Amino acid sequence: MTGGGGPEQLLARHRAVLPDWLSLYYERPVELTHGEGRHVWDSEGNRYLDFFGGILTTMTAHALPEVGRAVAEQAGRLLHSSTLYLNRPMVALAERIAALSGIRDPRVFFTTSGTEANDTALLLATAYRRSNQVLALRNSYHGRSFSAVGITGNSAWSPTSLSPVHTLYVHGGVRTRGPFAALPDAAFTEACVADLRDVLAQTRGGVAALIAEPVQGVGGFTSGPDGLFAAFREVLDAEGILWISDEVQTGWGRTGEHFWGWQAHAGHGPPDVLTFAKGIGNGMSIGGVVARAEVMNCLDSNSISTFGGSPVTMAAGLANLEYLLAHDLPGNARRVGGLLIERLRAVTAGLGLVREVRGRGLMIGIELVRPGTDLPYPAAASRVLEAARAGGLLLGKGGGPGGSVLRIAPPLSLTAAEAEAGAEVLAAALRAVDAEPAA
Ligand code: PMP
Repeated sequence: MTGGGGPEQLLARHRAVLPDWLSLYYERPVELTHGEGRHVWDSEGNRYLDFFGGILTTMTAHALPEVGRAVAEQAGRLLHSSTLYLNRPMVALAERIAALSGIRDPRVFFTTSGTEANDTALLLATAYRRSNQVLALRNSYHGRSFSAVGITGNSAWSPTSLSPVHTLYVHGGVRTRGPFAALPDAAFTEACVADLRDVLAQTRGGVAALIAEPVQGVGGFTSGPDGLFAAFREVLDAEGILWISDEVQTGWGRTGEHFWGWQAHAGHGPPDVLTFAKGIGNGMSIGGVVARAEVMNCLDSNSISTFGGSPVTMAAGLANLEYLLAHDLPGNARRVGGLLIERLRAVTAGLGLVREVRGRGLMIGIELVRPGTDLPYPAAASRVLEAARAGGLLLGKGGGPGGSVLRIAPPLSLTAAEAEAGAEVLAAALRAVDAEPAA
């Protein structure tokens, strides 16, 4: 039904029928056929340790039997999606997420992606505040729908400037570059708050919300100091501006320290709105929004799309969340992520190519520069990716302001031995590229 031939033929068919802008990571694109635990296999029989989890979508483990069984059971009973009828798995998952969210008087709405979740958050915030002015952080990424591109500050990831949202960008995400880079934590926070006040003072009319990733994901796994958003909150609260925390990458304990990224900034309470997606379905399409009831219920409409909350994806989410909590995978992210960061720092010490190894939990970035300079070096990131693939390791590239950050975000069940093995492959790839003449 899907046709024969090897990956070359499949690539030719892909190119003929799919958009040119659907980028494929590798010089010879990978066709994945199956997975198990933290490993995946391609159609040529090669096995890879997966340090990217399909950009964090495989949150717990590949082919997790608990999730597979839940999906098969639900699909065997009812393959269907509609928000018009009562839906037991949707209510059950909403209850779990509401209780975990930390948001006061929470309501949960399910979407099918993180982009749609942020779109919905913008719809809520702008309708609630009767304003289409939104604050976002420089170097942010929130998706590529018509409104989400309008709050995505990283131009390399934003295909158009023609967005219906009026966005004002403030500092706060990138700690290691930019005008405040040299400042210590407290002074950095102070400078960002002053910048926020300045932007607000120059804005006519009300601002609906500030949307921000607690750790910028596509932006290169970079974050401001803990407490930054609590400091922002004081300024926002004075004007009734909502805080939307985009937890699409930082949710579910990925950062190891907290279940949600916002909890590193909890000084002034939880956000008004939280968006989530990616890993909760362990590969099934789930996104969603949690908001205070008053904000969620400001709309007078009948759902947003037909598909959010399909019983099959909800069954996957429930089984996956249960597994995550029962096996304390956030704790594993803290322990194994800590080991991995340490190991990566040790094996990359002295390489002129590596500017910084940074991260929280199992969200780790390696920023590359042209040796002897502070300039981004995206071509080297691509070469490291190819070399790591040849060594049996998949990871992410293209992050950060210069597209020069390698991104590591494995399934949260990664073992210490796997972390060690992956670090060795990555170190060899980095050493090989470091030794090559600059392109
Ligand atoms: N927000 C953040 C922080 C993301 O990293 C992403 C995806 N990379 C999105 C939103 C969009 O999510 P999705 O790809 O599920 O639409």
